[in-house]
Amino acid sequence: MWAWLWNAASSRSSPRPRTRPKAWPPSSKSAPACGRGSKVKIAFIGLGNMGGGMAANLVKTGHEVHAFDLSADALARAKDNGCATYTSVREAVQGAEAVVSMLPNGAIVDSVYSADVIGQAPTSALLLDCSTIDVATARKVEEAARAAGYAMVDAPVSGGIAAANAGTLTFMVGGTDEAFATAEPILSAMGKAVIHAGASGAGQAAKICNNMILGATMIATCEAFALAEKLGLDLQTFYDISSKASGQSWSMTSYCPVPGVGPQSPADNQYQGGFAAALMLKDLKLAMAAAQTAGAQTPMGARAEDLYQKFADAGHGGLDFSAIIKTL
Ligand code: NAD
Repeated sequence: MWAWLWNAASSRSSPRPRTRPKAWPPSSKSAPACGRGSKVKIAFIGLGNMGGGMAANLVKTGHEVHAFDLSADALARAKDNGCATYTSVREAVQGAEAVVSMLPNGAIVDSVYSADVIGQAPTSALLLDCSTIDVATARKVEEAARAAGYAMVDAPVSGGIAAANAGTLTFMVGGTDEAFATAEPILSAMGKAVIHAGASGAGQAAKICNNMILGATMIATCEAFALAEKLGLDLQTFYDISSKASGQSWSMTSYCPVPGVGPQSPADNQYQGGFAAALMLKDLKLAMAAAQTAGAQTPMGARAEDLYQKFADAGHGGLDFSAIIKTL
């Protein structure tokens, strides 16, 4: 439903994807036959809100998808979408040329890869984790995979459920040049932009830094509208001014938190749909943990985390993150 919002976000904020020479034909054992246009046997782990649509798009583009999820409902939907379904990760990854995962958090990613992917999938399989997880766990899992002979990338996404269903996600990828070149055709089947962010963990780093900006600018935008109203300004007039002045941001001009002002956004739908405040909170927590590890000062990010924590604690975690304006 909100696909246009995510499209707008990426078209405004994403740099031109850096294209890489394709590793084709594969130059080593760690570069499987995943070239554009070729049918690849892909194990897909985690078929929830995001993974379900992503796996369906891999099927639509001609790949053979071997799916596993703990949820029987998710597996049934995957079967309806043309995936072959399995009763365990270990079964799903047998003979795979690539393994894609879309799981809730780092602890689960770590446990799935250590227990059931590494040492079970062929070492020629490329491993792609698309979940949003902490940088340290992404690097730890990649190191374990590399030590066992696999190539692995972290490839978190920008874009919500609608973009996952529509195949219009933006992927930010961490890994070697060769692993990126092999991953790119697979990710392109699920998205409109695939950007190489750097070495292992760089995709996760880019994702949480981007979303830290988003959380902080959304709150700042909400505060400005709330103050403008108290100062007697007409909110549409304030939008017309600020959207063309130095207060402009994506949070204002593509995702305005005020109903009836600016382009259509979740604010016009009682803050339903869009990007849940609970997911924004998750990403802010990841950013704050990374900042602590890296010794970076992020006072605005910390304040945004605090405010979204209070918002979630008050029972609003399921609302779109722009609904935080209701608290101001
Ligand atoms: P979800 O909860 O809908 O899906 C996760 C799926 O993983 C579930 O179906 C669950 O049953 C399955 N699962 C959990 N543990 C498993 C295991 N051990 N083995 C196999 N399957 C297992 O979550 P989602 O919204 O699809 O999000 C997935 C990832 O994408 C998260 O990391 C999230 O932060 C990220 N993300 C979500 C959005 C969004 O808008 N939903 C946007 C960008 C990124």
